[in-house]
Amino acid sequence: MKICVVGSGYVGLVAAVCFAEMGHHVQCVDNDEARIKLLREGGVPIFEAHLPELLAKHRDRGVRFISGLGEAVAESEAIFIAVGTPQGDSGAADLSYVEAVVSQIARGIRDYKVVVEKSTVPVYTNDWIRRVLHRHGVDPLNFGVVSNPEFLREGTAISDFLHPDRIVVGANEERAADVLRRIYEPLTTGSYYARPDALPGSCSMQQPAPLLVTSAQTAELIKHASNAFLALKISFINAVSNLAEAVDADIEDIAAGMGLDTRIGPKFLHAGLGYGGSCFPKDVAAFHWVAQQRGVNFQLLREIRRINDTQREVFYNKVLAALWTLRGKRLAALGLAYKGGTDDVRESPALEIIRKLLKAGAQVTAYDPAAMERAQEVLPPGDSLRYAGYLYEAAANADAVLILTDWPQFAALDLVHLKQVMRFPIMIDGRNLYKPQTMIDHGFTYVSMGRPASYPAQQDKPRKVAC
Ligand code: NAD
Repeated sequence: MKICVVGSGYVGLVAAVCFAEMGHHVQCVDNDEARIKLLREGGVPIFEAHLPELLAKHRDRGVRFISGLGEAVAESEAIFIAVGTPQGDSGAADLSYVEAVVSQIARGIRDYKVVVEKSTVPVYTNDWIRRVLHRHGVDPLNFGVVSNPEFLREGTAISDFLHPDRIVVGANEERAADVLRRIYEPLTTGSYYARPDALPGSCSMQQPAPLLVTSAQTAELIKHASNAFLALKISFINAVSNLAEAVDADIEDIAAGMGLDTRIGPKFLHAGLGYGGSCFPKDVAAFHWVAQQRGVNFQLLREIRRINDTQREVFYNKVLAALWTLRGKRLAALGLAYKGGTDDVRESPALEIIRKLLKAGAQVTAYDPAAMERAQEVLPPGDSLRYAGYLYEAAANADAVLILTDWPQFAALDLVHLKQVMRFPIMIDGRNLYKPQTMIDHGFTYVSMGRPASYPAQQDKPRKVAC
C-alpha cells in the first residue's frame, strides 16, 4: 500500500522504515530540511537498534524521505501524523504541530484518504482533525480519521513496532478501520513472520500481532491510560523504596517478591531516579488536564508526578550525605540519556541531577555511550562540566561515581580498574545496577535506592545521629 508518514522523529522514522519492511511504499515527510538531507544521504539521525540495517535495506526503495508534503497526500491511501505533541504551559498537550499538518494534508485530498493520529493526543483530537479538514473545505466523504496510538519504547522501537503486544485502531467508520487492517495485515496474519528475512521477536506465524478495533476516543484514552499506568507503577515502587530505606528493608527483594505475583508482574518495578523522556511526563500531565476539563477528579495522576519529582531530590540528598559538601568535588556522571538504549535526553533525570550538582559547585565529568552529542546541545561543556571520551576517563580522580542511566555497560564495570582510577571508591547508584555485597567485596562505599548503604570498612560508616 502507499503510505505517507509525517514526522521523521523516534516514532515517524521507525514507523516509516517498519511499514517499508512490511512491504509498503512509504513517503516520510519532515519539515526539518537538515534531517531529511541527512536521511537521504545515508545518515541515521537517532540511536535505535536495527534502524541502521533497515534504513540501508529500504532507503530509496520502500521508503523515500521528502521535506514537503507535495504530492505525497494525493499518492497515499493513509497519512500518519507522527509529529511532536509537547506539553503546553497548562499541562495540556500542545497540538499546534498536529493542526499545522492537518491543514497541509487538507490541500492534498482529492479522493478518499485516511488521516491517522500516530502522535499521542488527548481524547477528541480525532474530532478536531475532522473539523479542521471540514473548515478547509474537504468533502466529508473523502476522508476518515483514525487513532492508531504508538506503544513503542525507545531503545527497542523497531522490534516493538514489528512485534507489538497489540495494535489499537480507533475508528468511528468501518471503511477507515479497514484501511488500517490492510496496512497491518502482514503482522496480524503473521505473513511477515514467515519471511526468512523477518526480524525475530515475540510474534510468530502461530502467534501474530493482535489488533483491537475500538472507537476513536477509546483508542485515544487507551494510549494515555497505558502511559499513566506505567508511570504509576514506577512511582509506586519508588515510594515503596523510600519506605524500605527508612526501615532497613531491601527494595530489590520487595520488587522481586511483588513481581512474582502474576497479577502484578515484574516489569516497571525498578526503583530509581523516576521516569523521564518525551512521553511519560507530558502524557501524565496531559491526561490529568483532560480529566480536569471533563470535571473528573483524578488526583492520583498528580501524585504520580509528585513522587517522580521527589526521586531526583532523594538521589541528590544521597550524594550530599555521602560527600558532605559538593563545592569543588569531582564527580563522574555515568549516563545522560533518560534511560539505557537511547540517545534521547528529553526530560532526562540525569541532566536534571547534573544541573543541580553544578549549581552546588561540583565539578562534573559526564559520559554516555550514545547521548553525548544530544546532551551537549542542552548542557554545553564549560569550566565545571566536561564530557569524557570514554567511560573510565570520566571516573579518573573522581571523589565519587554516580550512575544515572541504566545502560548495560554500566552494570558490567571493571570494578578493580574503576577503584584504581578514582580518588575515593564511592559509588552512588541511582539505578540499582549492583548488588551491595559485590561493591563491598571490591572495597567501595556503595549507596543505592531503597537499600541500606554499604560500607567496606566500619570507620567509613556515618554514625546515626539521634534527632
Ligand atoms: P520527535 O520530536 O522525535 O519527532 C517529531 C518530528 O516531527 C520532528 O522531526 C519534527 O521536525 C517533525 N515535524 C514537526 N512539525 C512538522 C510538520 N509540520 N511537517 C513535517 N514534520 C514535522 O517526536 P517523537 O518522539 O517521534 O514523538 C512523536 C509523537 O509520538 C509524540 O506525540 C509522542 O508523544 C508520540 N510517541 C512517542 C514515543 C517515543 O518513544 N518517542 C512513543 C510513542 C508515542
